[in-house]
This record gives sequence, structure tokens and C-alpha cells, in this order.
Amino acid sequence: MSSIFDSGNPADLEPCCGCGICAAVCPIRAITMKMNSQGFFTPEQVPGKCNSCELCTRTCYRFINTHQDESSPLPHIEQGAIFSAFSNIPSIRQESSSGGVAPVLASVYLALGYRIGGVSYAADEQIARYCFADTPHDLVALSGSKYLQSFSANALREFLIDKKRRYVFFGLPCQIYGIRRLAKINNAIDRVLLVDLFCLGVPTYHLWHKYIAFLKSRGHIDEVVEPKFRDKRTGWHTFSITINGINKNYSVKKAKDLFFAFYLRKNCICDACYGCRMRRDSVASDIRLGDFWGPAYLHDNQGVSLVNIITDKGAAAWERVRSSITTLQQHTAKDMFISQPIDRIRCPDERFSVMKLLADPSIPLEKIASTYIVPPDPITVFLQRSSRALRRILRRLRP
Ligand SMILES: Cc1cc2nc3c(=O)[nH]c(=O)nc-3n(C[C@H](O)[C@H](O)[C@H](O)COP(=O)(O)OP(=O)(O)OC[C@H]3O[C@@H](n4cnc5c(N)ncnc54)[C@H](O)[C@@H]3O)c2cc1C
Ligand code: SF4
Ligand code: SF4
Ligand code: SF4
Repeated sequence: MSSIFDSGNPADLEPCCGCGICAAVCPIRAITMKMNSQGFFTPEQVPGKCNSCELCTRTCYRFINTHQDESSPLPHIEQGAIFSAFSNIPSIRQESSSGGVAPVLASVYLALGYRIGGVSYAADEQIARYCFADTPHDLVALSGSKYLQSFSANALREFLIDKKRRYVFFGLPCQIYGIRRLAKINNAIDRVLLVDLFCLGVPTYHLWHKYIAFLKSRGHIDEVVEPKFRDKRTGWHTFSITINGINKNYSVKKAKDLFFAFYLRKNCICDACYGCRMRRDSVASDIRLGDFWGPAYLHDNQGVSLVNIITDKGAAAWERVRSSITTLQQHTAKDMFISQPIDRIRCPDERFSVMKLLADPSIPLEKIASTYIVPPDPITVFLQRSSRALRRILRRLRP
């Protein structure tokens, strides 16, 4: 084997998730991350540079067994200790996507001298970008989920050359899997805490950019300075997307929003997300965070986090932040699966057509929506809900 570009049979490999780990690890910058025609970040080879050192294939999840971590298997998601919790500080809970456990972990570890890795919105390029926070002020930009694929190669290179400082990394399961590999290669595993998120995939940038064009064409916004993908002022379950521009701000409930209409139908997420095992099987992080959806907190309107403590390091971190967090109760793995339906994401039949239309710059978003985003009829909704309930019952009956 040599580089990711000439190793393995493409038909046998899992799709690229765009995590940027290969570009970060390549010591001679023979890989750059570019946005591909599908609207996802993907590695490109710099011609004539590769020296076949194999570092990229030793790090990329597509070339190794993701269930193995060197010699020992990674813990399974069911093995963690599961809690429902939220931040004691109401404003932190309000500004975050779920219960605000991520910002509490971030600020406690920042005060301990760690650098905090997470994702901010880069208004200059209209993308999500992985970056580090070194001050409480920097942390503000990391708060809240940006439901986009983040560009991470540059930040991860910074980590690789740093042989001293301690880090907490927040990210999606595929990113955290790769960051764990980077930390191992860099002999840095003892100075990192890894926190990943439950994940329903990332949508193509063609959707996000067409959505911005749509809002501008309707006069709803002038620019996108600061999008808030989960604005809980209208409730946690019934959240809104709010876009702060220069002179105009826009806000609409998720149920009426075109970006979420496409994203939640999962008809334009990355190829890698449909079969992704990192989101549902073995876990590479110390702690996994998400929303405690489902019946348990149906009437909560401020947000409850699902906290899954995976490793001893995660348990120590949890002890450190516990006094800043209200823990509601400990839950079983069954409760977690009711809250988080982490079965394989089904690829809708319409995906091919939707992706093709989204990639065509001449077709406006509302035109695509008029064909693919029709309100579901009540019978379909009933059948979908029944089949989901049946799947959950079968899963619980499974030995
Ligand atoms: C693309 C995506 C899909 C998700 N899917 C689910 C899901 O299916 N079920 C579920 O329960 N939870 C999901 N989450 C996680 C959830 O939205 C919250 O991020 C999580 O519960 C932490 O919330 P919090 O209140 O503790 O803190 P928050 O303040 O909301 O913290 C968010 C954290 O996520 C990081 N982050 C923000 N955007 C990104 C990004 N694009 N990529 C990587 N990291 C990012 C931030 O740096 C910060 O550390 C998803 C998040 C993202 C970004
Ligand atoms: S999955 Fe990540 S590491 Fe592998 S080729 Fe794609 S961007 Fe590179
Ligand atoms: S130089 Fe090494 S890390 Fe870079 S592309 Fe070639 S094999 Fe991969
Ligand atoms: S579903 Fe998997 S591949 Fe897709 S963004 Fe989430 S962790 Fe990454």
C-alpha cells in the first residue's frame, strides 16, 4: 500500500467522509482538501509530491478496521454509562443545542489550560471550520451545532506540530475517530480528551449555498454573518433556524424551514453517512453527547443532553464537571436507543435526483422543493411512525 489515492480497490472501500485527517497527517502536504462536485470536502492529490510514506493510509478509517484500535477493540456504544443532564447556567443551556454539556466541558477544561477544538462558522467562506479556542471569548464561536461538514485539515496540522499542549476535541464520530489516530501517531493520546456527538450525517454544501441564495432572493437576509442552526427561543423540540445578517435577521421554525426540510429527509447527506458505523457501533471518543430526544423529556423546552461516558478518561472528566451540571438520572442502553434511533441511515430513492438538481447552479432551491418537499399525507405519517415503533420494539426484544 502507499497513499490513499492508489491503495485498495475503490469498490471495496467505504466512501470518504471528508474528515481531512489524511491532508493533516501528510508530512509533505501532498494532499489538499477541496470541495468536490457533490458539495463535500474531499482530498486531492498534489501531482508528483507523494513519497509513499503510508501515513495517510495508516490514519484514514477506510483502510483500517474501525472496530479495532491498534490491538484492542474499541468500546461499543452500549457499554457506556448513560446520563440525562444539563448545564446549571440557564444562559449556557439556552445558547447551546441540547443541554449545554459541551460548553461546560469546554470552559472547565479551558480553565485547566487545555486548548479546545470545535467548529465555528466562517462567514468569509460560508462554511463550517474546525478551530481552537484559547480564551473564554474564543469559546463563544464554538457554541451550538452547525449542521454542515467542517473544514478541519489546517487546525489538525496545528495540533500535529504541537508536542506539548493538552487538547479537548469536540467533533463528529468520523472526525474524532481520525483525531484519535492522529493523537496515537503523535504520541499525544495522554494529553487529549475526545468528545464526539450523536450524528445524523452532514448535508451537501450545495444545499446550504442554495438556501442562502434563496433567502437573499426573497429579501429575508442581506448576508450571513452568524447562523444559529438551533435557536431555542421557540422551544427545544420546536427550535428555529436564525440567521443574523448585517442589517437583516431571519428566523423561522425548523418545521417550516427549507434547509431542515432537505436535511432531515436525509436526501442530500454525504455518501459516507449512509453506511457509517462510527455513529452507531464502536466509539472512538471518551464521551459521546447528544440530545435526549424521545418520550422521557418530551415536555422539556430548554434542552436535555444525553451523555454517554465511554472510557475511564471520560468518567474522570465527568466527575470534574459534575458540580456545574444538573444530572437528572442514569439511564439504560435501551433508553438511549429509544432516544437515538441509530440504525443505518436509509438512502432515499430520490437522493440521486436531488443531489443532481442541487449541484446545478441554474436551478433554485424552491423549484427542487416543489417536487421533493411536499407535505406528507397523514396516512404516510402514520405508517412511518408505526414502522419506526415496530423496529424499536424488535430491537428491544433482540437478545
Ligand atoms: C452535523 C451534526 C449532526 C448531529 N446529529 C445529532 C443527532 O442525530 N442526534 C443528536 O442527539 N445529536 C446530534 N448532534 C449533536 C447535537 O446537535 C449537539 O451538538 C450535542 O448534543 C452537544 O450539544 P450541547 O448542548 O452539549 O452543546 P453545544 O453548544 O450545542 O455544542 C456543540 C458542539 O459541537 C461542535 N460542533 C458544532 N458544529 C459542528 C460540526 N459541524 N461538526 C463537528 N462539531 C461541531 C461545537 O464545536 C461544540 O463543541 C449533531 C451535531 C452535528 C454538528
Ligand atoms: S475519509 Fe478522511 S482521511 Fe480518509 S480519504 Fe477521506 S478525508 Fe482523507
Ligand atoms: S506522502 Fe505519505 S501521507 Fe502524503 S500522500 Fe504520500 S503516502 Fe500519503
Ligand atoms: S454519519 Fe458518520 S460519516 Fe457522516 S458525518 Fe456523521 S460520523 Fe461522519
